[in-house]
Amino acid sequence: MTNDPLRQAYDADTFRTTGHALIDELADWLASSQTPAPDTPVVDYREPADTYTFWQEQLQQADAPLWQNVLQQSMNVHHPRYMGHQISPPLPVAALAGLVSDLLNNGMAVYEMGMAGTATERVVIETVARALGFSDRAGGFLTSGGTLANLTALLAARAHRAPHGVWQEGSREPLALLVSEQAHYCVDRAARIMGWGEAGVVKVPCNEHYAMRTELLESQYQAAQAAGRTVIAVVGSACTTATGSFDDLLAIADFCEKYKLWFHVDGAHGAPLALSPEYRHRVAGLERADSVAMDFHKMLLTPSIITALFYKEHRASYATFQQRANYLMEGEAEDDWSNLARRTFECTKLMAGFKVYTILQQYGTSLWTEYVTRVCRLGETFSQLIAEHPDFELLLPAQCNIVCFRHLRPESPATALNEHNRRLRRRLLEEGRFYIVQTEVDNKVWLRTTITNPFTTADDLRALLAYLPA
Ligand SMILES: *Cc1c(COP(=O)(O)O)cnc(C)c1O
Repeated sequence: MTNDPLRQAYDADTFRTTGHALIDELADWLASSQTPAPDTPVVDYREPADTYTFWQEQLQQADAPLWQNVLQQSMNVHHPRYMGHQISPPLPVAALAGLVSDLLNNGMAVYEMGMAGTATERVVIETVARALGFSDRAGGFLTSGGTLANLTALLAARAHRAPHGVWQEGSREPLALLVSEQAHYCVDRAARIMGWGEAGVVKVPCNEHYAMRTELLESQYQAAQAAGRTVIAVVGSACTTATGSFDDLLAIADFCEKYKLWFHVDGAHGAPLALSPEYRHRVAGLERADSVAMDFHKMLLTPSIITALFYKEHRASYATFQQRANYLMEGEAEDDWSNLARRTFECTKLMAGFKVYTILQQYGTSLWTEYVTRVCRLGETFSQLIAEHPDFELLLPAQCNIVCFRHLRPESPATALNEHNRRLRRRLLEEGRFYIVQTEVDNKVWLRTTITNPFTTADDLRALLAYLPA
């Protein structure tokens, strides 16, 4: 072999050998994750300083079992007792597609730097938009996370609904949006990034199910306008991150029509419920939104990060970063779908569409329907188990696969219950038999689960309830 270190590092035969060995190792790991032995943890938790020291030392050991170590020291989302944050166990075929796109490294800022990546992205967007209920006028693109998708959508809202051309002239008047007080913090952050300040986010109070009280939209809108704010958009949550609550999108759509406001749906987690006949009703009205953000990595079985930003009118997406006035009127740019950087934040971009395309080509949307239905049913099953259990309190009946609850000790005052549940969650993390998270709602600490693994069973859920206080 050559002495050139770069030639050696790029050697195709080395890639072949290590690649085959790696696939074997990953396949074994996947099999043992899916039907784990009783002592196989979901997470082998270590303190940050320990992990840091470990990896610092490993750096000096060229023959360290790198793959093994990283598998062992990572969260195992393929374990049926992983029920924590909203992350899919990715389909193996999507991970393989990721390997292909990583090696190709097509940057996609302009069409020729990713022909297949750009075209597959469009096919994915159009196919999924139709499946969600949009007409064939809809379009959009993929971007890097729900956070960025929401910001991009709100920039589009501003381009279309602000009374002045902020992009050219800068801000002239204070703008605002309406959103539920339970919305993901990134909506608040987006408004502040745009310079709207705290008063630019009008928080609409929620009902007992933590959904927006849409009957208050009118008075909140009037109050903001009277205070000198120009309201240009309403953001619906489908669903909220903390509690999995769905806003009434039909009511928001009606309200937006009345005042010609931009209607954006943060469907990062819950928009895929539209793909399930059993749960579609939760997102009724989604197709009336001007824009919808939806993560593929939360409910649609892809690796992170892949987020779609859909526009009801695909042409609307070109105004977001328009550099010149009357961009759309010129007719020139409206079909420039193949140069994605015109509409996205990113310049260089992941070939994310190819991973989704691979799933669609292999399984069609029906696999997603099966998955979404299954994990939402499991959410309902878990929610019932908790409701029937005398030692646990259910926050609200599950509307999808997110379930919040807490362990009760009847003799404890409320503040001690918070500490108690925090301790249970911490112990669970350290022991690693299950993985769940926690959230705070109304000053109470709740244990929070997202049932994201389709192979989690009702027995796993019963086992969690039995294990928690033991
Ligand atoms: C997860 C989530 C986000 C953030 O999405 P990322 O892909 O993590 O950036 C935004 N909104 C809601 C409702 C979410 O659940």
